[in-house]
Amino acid sequence: STSQTPPATTKMAGKKKIAIMTSGGDSPGMNGVVRACVRMAIHMGCEAYCVYEGYEGLVRGGNLIRRMQWLDVRGWLSEGGTLIGTARCMAFFERAGRLAAAKNLVAEGIDALIICGGDGSLTGADRFRAEWPSLIQELEDTGVYTALQLQPYRHLNIVGLVGSIDNDLSGTDATIGCYSALARVCYAVDLIEATASSHSRAFVVEVMGRHCGWLALMAGVATGADFIFIPEKPREDNWREEMCGVVEHHRKLGRRKTIVIIAEGALDREGNKITSEMVKDLLADKKGLGLDTRITTLGHVQRGGTAVAYDRMLATLQGVEAVKAVLEATPETPTCVITINENKIVRKGLIEAVQETKMVAKAIENQDFDRAMGLRDTEFSEQYRSFMMTTAVQVNQKMQVPEKDRMKIGFINVGAPAGGMNAAVRAGVAYCLSRGHEPIAIYNGFAGFARHHGDSPLGAVRPFDWLEVDGWASKGGSEIGTNRELPNESGMETIADLIELYKFDALFLIGGFEAFHAVSQLRKAREQFPSLCIPITLLPATISNNVPGTEYSLGSDTCLNELVEYCDKIKQSASATRRRVFVIETQGGRSGYVATLGGLGVGATAVYTPEEGVSLEMLAADVRHLKKVFGQDQGQSRAGRLILINEKASKVYNARLIAEILREEAHGRFESREGIPGHMQQGGVPSPMDRCRAVRLAIRCIQHLEQFGRNVHNKVKNDPMSATVIGIKGASVVFTPVAKVEEEETDWPNRRPKTEFWLGMKDIGDILAGRPKYVPQE
Ligand code: ATP
Repeated sequence: STSQTPPATTKMAGKKKIAIMTSGGDSPGMNGVVRACVRMAIHMGCEAYCVYEGYEGLVRGGNLIRRMQWLDVRGWLSEGGTLIGTARCMAFFERAGRLAAAKNLVAEGIDALIICGGDGSLTGADRFRAEWPSLIQELEDTGVYTALQLQPYRHLNIVGLVGSIDNDLSGTDATIGCYSALARVCYAVDLIEATASSHSRAFVVEVMGRHCGWLALMAGVATGADFIFIPEKPREDNWREEMCGVVEHHRKLGRRKTIVIIAEGALDREGNKITSEMVKDLLADKKGLGLDTRITTLGHVQRGGTAVAYDRMLATLQGVEAVKAVLEATPETPTCVITINENKIVRKGLIEAVQETKMVAKAIENQDFDRAMGLRDTEFSEQYRSFMMTTAVQVNQKMQVPEKDRMKIGFINVGAPAGGMNAAVRAGVAYCLSRGHEPIAIYNGFAGFARHHGDSPLGAVRPFDWLEVDGWASKGGSEIGTNRELPNESGMETIADLIELYKFDALFLIGGFEAFHAVSQLRKAREQFPSLCIPITLLPATISNNVPGTEYSLGSDTCLNELVEYCDKIKQSASATRRRVFVIETQGGRSGYVATLGGLGVGATAVYTPEEGVSLEMLAADVRHLKKVFGQDQGQSRAGRLILINEKASKVYNARLIAEILREEAHGRFESREGIPGHMQQGGVPSPMDRCRAVRLAIRCIQHLEQFGRNVHNKVKNDPMSATVIGIKGASVVFTPVAKVEEEETDWPNRRPKTEFWLGMKDIGDILAGRPKYVPQE
């Protein structure tokens, strides 16, 4: 009866009450979502609420729906799992449960709901939304609320965010948490590899994914596994012979370890389950391979721990986007889910995304596997092809090109080492070999190339040894060396002569801004040296992510992970003193990318970049801000605070000096320290994202080069596409002519792109850190 129900709160005009909940399986990054949504909602003048325990909280209401304040979510970026809880809720499958949920939302006066969860949760959300008008009607018909009380709630505004470790929602390239889970999987496989190699063993590694093979596939690509099993694409009927054939082939080449990765939902073409046990028995069969084989089921460790930098970024940007979507929605706007395509955050129809996801499961059930693959995003099928191309090399004779089209391709790394360089070389070499091309390693950049003759130990030019390269999938650094020297410095004539001497048909460069500059020099020297009229392409790789022509460089993800991990530790170290601020100097050259994204990932109080510079006024404003926040802090979190400053943000104010200024100005209200992670930021083992993208992009690069064919000097000379840089730009992967990039997209003095896509993220970071907007006085 009405008397037992809490009254519907009177609504303040224009001021929205936005509730956030996490649902389904927990995933790393969910806390980042909650933090971003709560703070963005408050920033936009709304009231923020959290629904605890997923749909259970919605159904039960009461103190499971709580108002949240700014400080309640402090430090949440660095926490794993979901701090507001999640549950599988049976009641929500029933109309009665959803009716109770509707009543509770009305009772609290909540007019918008942001739900972060997997496809199940979003299905529930979609059902709830579709049913909402009738639920409200029922509340009126049964006299729970009056028509007048219900008037503001005729429409429920729902926005979905995809939080899931297995990346199972259609329409998005990545779900919040999937790259963290992948990091855990790859970490485990990397560890297993050492022992597998030592004992010459085989390991069957089972990973999560009932209907989705993303984790298994990407782990296979990132670790260079021998064989994978995924639900979407069962192997041919002779999969037993096929697997044993591949493993045997790899063993014959000299591989001492065998790694097979299997998704928990792996099937054969008849829809029968393929289990780890079955695979193990095959590998161990004494009549066949007879390998000493073990099974490792990774299980819940895959969910565990804190989010990687990418998931923190995704959680934060998508959380902010969700709040914006809520505020922009009208009753006519279709309910949306926030997705990401390549590097672009997009709103899509929730219903369509959920339906498409269901179609994948349906297609698998009906054994329509081409359709299942087709319904996954394009990256998925491309990575599948990448995996097939980089494994079982030479087994696959079908892929070879005719003798006359086989090219001699020089691989050269330029600049500082970056995570993923070796993975890119490995993939490029594997692809070349499977096509019948001849990949040649040029050691130690252009300097090594120019001076390897005679008895100089500097460089070498030699064919790759596949067995050696095959072990590079997860290796950090650059196995073929690298050097910063530009071709002009090494001597363009020498380089041109050597290209002629070795009869290279194409050059594949991997590296950072120097590598870009190198391609530019080679291109410009074509007039003078005809031997340079061969196709050349660059795969950007630098932790600074400052190469024009792309929004992403290999190694930048690894770098952000290192930085975020470092900052988390530093922050925690302050728990004994509490009132401490750390000023951390980041790398990044004259690009503030690393500092900004690192700051976004750890919730830095302030970030100083070369783009914006540092001024006394800015420092003064931040000192005032710090005094205020330390003053308000009632001990919500014991961790310290962070300021990130790029190494080249200012000629005068460096990390140490800023730490000293803060200490002086704090007058004892807080203390400060500086920290310089330095080359640690290059990372040890490259992140799975860098490794997987390395594979995908490297293969695309060689494919691009091979389009030109051999002996095409005249064609190359006049074709801008013959000197290119591959890049991720917005939602697509593109090759851009270097001539165009040089001309239109490069800020040469500052060695960075003219327009940097991430600049807006700096503002988001500042907003969520509560940093007052800095407006220069003059
Ligand atoms: P994960 O991908 O990690 O498993 P998920 O969101 O898919 O996450 P589920 O257990 O499938 O997890 O769903 C979470 C909750 O969402 C369910 O316990 C239930 O309360 C609600 N839910 C799921 N499907 C529906 C549905 N069809 N109708 C109503 N509620 C649903």
